[in-house]
Amino acid sequence: MSTAELIPLRVNDLKQYEYCPRIVFYNTVMPLDRKVTFKMQRGTEAEFQLDALEKRRSLRRYKLSEGERRFHVSLHSERLGLSGKMDLLIVSEQGYFPVDFKYTRGRPHRNHISQLAGYAVLVEEQYQTEVETGFIYLAPVGELVAIKITQELKKEVAERLAMIRDMVREELLPPPTPMRARCSECEFRNYCGDIF
Ligand code: SF4
Repeated sequence: MSTAELIPLRVNDLKQYEYCPRIVFYNTVMPLDRKVTFKMQRGTEAEFQLDALEKRRSLRRYKLSEGERRFHVSLHSERLGLSGKMDLLIVSEQGYFPVDFKYTRGRPHRNHISQLAGYAVLVEEQYQTEVETGFIYLAPVGELVAIKITQELKKEVAERLAMIRDMVREELLPPPTPMRARCSECEFRNYCGDIF
């Protein structure tokens, strides 16, 4: 398929697809009136506070002290039909390091890693470089978790994008997440009548 025919997707779609594929279906196949949930609002506010904090901090804890920090970097790949806005990109002599901020205390989940890998492939293409490591910053505990961006993870990004595009093209409602605890706070729960 030529790039001109690619359905445009966002890195956020990769994260949500991993969390629950139905969320991507509702967002793309049948866009609905979006209510800003408490969780989403809190995330936005916390991000601004964290930004101010981060700008004053030394990079020593990253072991990238001479690195330049670029906040809110927009990325786009025509070839992949993918775009996204990264929280932070650290550029140093050691390479390019994408950093994603999370507002949960727990270790990063699969969907966070999938999102980080999405940013990594975009950074590789935009800056003609190779990204081997990214970071997830757990804001509530001030912890930075290093994630190896393996070839497998990068391959998975392309596979997930293809799966999402098949779903959108065929307008097929995917199965719900098996993690039903996620449904109770989900903004789309009213549309998943088959599981409630
Ligand atoms: S209610 Fe559950 S199955 Fe439905 S979209 Fe939300 S997380 Fe997915």
